Amino acid sequence: MIRRTRVEIDLAAIVGNARAVQSIAGTALYAVVKADGYGHGAVSVAKALTAARAASGFCVSLVEEGVALRDAGVSAPILVMGPSQVGGEEDMVAAGLSPVISSDEELDALGHVARHRTEPVEAHMKIDTGMGRLGVAVERAAELAVEASRNGIRIVGLMTHFACADTDDPMDPDSVTRRQLRAFAAADRAVVAAGAPVRVRHAANSSGALLFPEARFDLVRCGLAIYGNGHWATEGQLPQARHQAMRLVTAIAQLRAVPAGSSVGYGATWTASRDSRVAVLPCGYADGLPRRASGRAQVAIRGKRVPLVGRISMDIAMADVTDLPDVSVGDPVVLLGRASGGASISTAEYGAWSGQSEYEVTCGMSKRVPRTYVEAVQ
Ligand SMILES: *Cc1c(COP(=O)(O)O)cnc(C)c1O
Repeated sequence: MIRRTRVEIDLAAIVGNARAVQSIAGTALYAVVKADGYGHGAVSVAKALTAARAASGFCVSLVEEGVALRDAGVSAPILVMGPSQVGGEEDMVAAGLSPVISSDEELDALGHVARHRTEPVEAHMKIDTGMGRLGVAVERAAELAVEASRNGIRIVGLMTHFACADTDDPMDPDSVTRRQLRAFAAADRAVVAAGAPVRVRHAANSSGALLFPEARFDLVRCGLAIYGNGHWATEGQLPQARHQAMRLVTAIAQLRAVPAGSSVGYGATWTASRDSRVAVLPCGYADGLPRRASGRAQVAIRGKRVPLVGRISMDIAMADVTDLPDVSVGDPVVLLGRASGGASISTAEYGAWSGQSEYEVTCGMSKRVPRTYVEAVQ
């Protein structure tokens, strides 16, 4: 590998995080690996979690994402959370993926496939309890359950998704999450009364799983927490600390003397106020270092934080290393993640420089940057 800019993924950290989350939740864990595992690499993450028996199943958004896991040999249950892809039902069933029904149209489309099979197709039904995005209205859940069984579909799972689990006060009985839980219970009673053979119920994402014990049901669907991001009050209960799994690293490509009064980069947005030494870093917004972080981002070099200066461009960023006289070309640079000397850069901090959430930071790591994996020890 020629390129020194790379994303390092610590699979051992992901396995440890999954175990930590599972030990708090006390339920089965379905690891959410949509969007290529939030940028960490869905196949590598799923294989590591499977080999370590640290997840009971996986959640994806797209049929293609589920099929890619099957092609890589992942045999655990895979829930395709959608929204549905009309025309993808046959592939979904053929690959043994678990469909989620969230509307009349989706039920219809799956029914077309199910009616031509000798065995019923098993599916989960998603209830809209207040997210207002996907899901069957609580009042219509029983009717759709009946319609499903007429079409050769067994509703074996019931699910919902929280809108505010990350910001709600877990003690507030009238929070959005608590109201969603009450609506979910009502839908559950109606669907069961209508005769649906529901075996599993699930509602919680990472925040729901870690903050709302009554949202854990039979399994939790966690992404953010297993990648070592997010912060929750319940962390104190964790038997082991969680670790941020992603690092973005590069190496100094050039060192330049910038005399006082000279400027650096497009738009000449930074002018040296003293005779300076500036490091050229071969990493830019095409790699996942957002241009909007210009003027705010820092990097860690030799265990010290230094600022990026000037505008971040497509392939290049510049760091002011005047205060680090010992640096040389080729020195490693940490843009995100663990660094020596307490200079580590968290996903939350990295995101804050450009107004991004932690989810966006890891999803936004460009495919141009090669991933290297630190393998989990079994
Ligand atoms: C993405 C997603 C999750 C996982 O959310 P995290 O906050 O990353 O744990 C769970 N459920 C659904 C329906 C999702 O779309």
